[in-house]
Amino acid sequence: MALKGTDVVKRLPDGGKKNCRECGFPTCFAFAMKLATGGVALDKCPYLPADVKAELEEALAPPIKPVTIGAGKNALEIGVEEVIYRHEKTFVHQPGIALLISDTETDAEIDEKIKKIKELQFPWVGLTLKANVLALRFESGDKAKFEALVKKVCEGTDLPVVLMSEDVDVLLSARKICGDRKPLLYAVTKDNIDKIIAGIKGSPTPVVVRGNSVEELIPLTTQLKDAGIEEIVLDPIAKNMQEAIRDQTLIRRAALKQNFRPLGYPTIGFPCFIAKDEIRQVLLAAMFVIKYPGIIVLSDFGQYSLLPLLVQRLNIYTDPRMPMSVEEKVYEVLEPNDESPVLITSNWALTYFIVASEIEGSKVPSWLCVKDTEGLGVLTGWAAGKFSGDSIGPFVKKSGIEGKVKHRRLIIPGKVARIRGELEEALPDWEIIVGPREASEIAAYLPNLVKKWKN
Ligand code: SF4
Repeated sequence: MALKGTDVVKRLPDGGKKNCRECGFPTCFAFAMKLATGGVALDKCPYLPADVKAELEEALAPPIKPVTIGAGKNALEIGVEEVIYRHEKTFVHQPGIALLISDTETDAEIDEKIKKIKELQFPWVGLTLKANVLALRFESGDKAKFEALVKKVCEGTDLPVVLMSEDVDVLLSARKICGDRKPLLYAVTKDNIDKIIAGIKGSPTPVVVRGNSVEELIPLTTQLKDAGIEEIVLDPIAKNMQEAIRDQTLIRRAALKQNFRPLGYPTIGFPCFIAKDEIRQVLLAAMFVIKYPGIIVLSDFGQYSLLPLLVQRLNIYTDPRMPMSVEEKVYEVLEPNDESPVLITSNWALTYFIVASEIEGSKVPSWLCVKDTEGLGVLTGWAAGKFSGDSIGPFVKKSGIEGKVKHRRLIIPGKVARIRGELEEALPDWEIIVGPREASEIAAYLPNLVKKWKN
């Protein structure tokens, strides 16, 4: 329940009638509208009294606060979600998939897990899918052993870490080892909250607040906020899947529907503590991807269990309003030369990767011209007027393909054979060839075509 522009304008100078334009907007009303959607910073208006500024800052803050764990290119940002269901708008920050390592595991097991999280990476429609957090758990009772684990992980990877210990002294000394990478401390409870606040107040670190129920979390987050600790993650401790769905949904609804600030934080989920075997854990994790933790911790995974989970995460956290697309340009497939075939397709990522892999399968080096259709497939792009002869002609001319090949033969997808005439008019120097209707036919089509050209 974010503040509306009409609510904001009433709080601006002279009730929103000053209209001095110093913020760069023609009126206070225009500024208020932009402010309500997060499109401008509050301090652009120099005339806001401090109390109004503080009030607006609080009111305009996202209902689920952002939390960043880790540093540099691997930093994980969670929170700032705006909807209960992904189809309402979009989910924003993909949850981190964490691998749990206990300090009771052997050196060989620890090395194997570090190796696994570093090596299990999957190329997928131009992206690299991977698990991206390590959760380090103090179980041995030996502080030196836990610190050795933290050091080993920090030296061996640059991933964000969750430090997990019931012993606050252990937690705080482990934090010193990896403080530069902004670890997430697990967990603040009603029994240790004063000690943790005293330990981190000077240089706050993100913390997980753990409670035996959702209600138990509320006074804890309130106390942390009052102490100036804003980066909070919630763990309502689910014992089974039913409790997990109930509590995660309750927290999300309280934050978004009631704008209830004490629960306006991202959450963490632990399939590793609810189920023992790998497959059950991954199934729980798949449920958590939908509802709603920002970090999901598994005790183990392999390539066959991790890949489907990562693909599901990608699909759920892809903005449904914006189809995945690739850049408009000429792509080289298998080192083509100036006699290689030239094909054209749309820039929907799936279309591009399927066509490119079929060309690779044909073993015929080719040029693949990818026309920007705003992420639409070939046929939809044609229906929307974005893959027509009139638009492809200018693209081919400016793409630079004419300088890369000696011939002038352009292969178009069979599904849009009807644009051949338009294209012949738009590209009079080019022979327009209607290619296969389906990408799966390319592997057989291209070698035959090249053979025919040679003969
Ligand atoms: S600077 Fe402030 S008072 Fe002036 S127009 Fe902008 S919002 Fe209104």
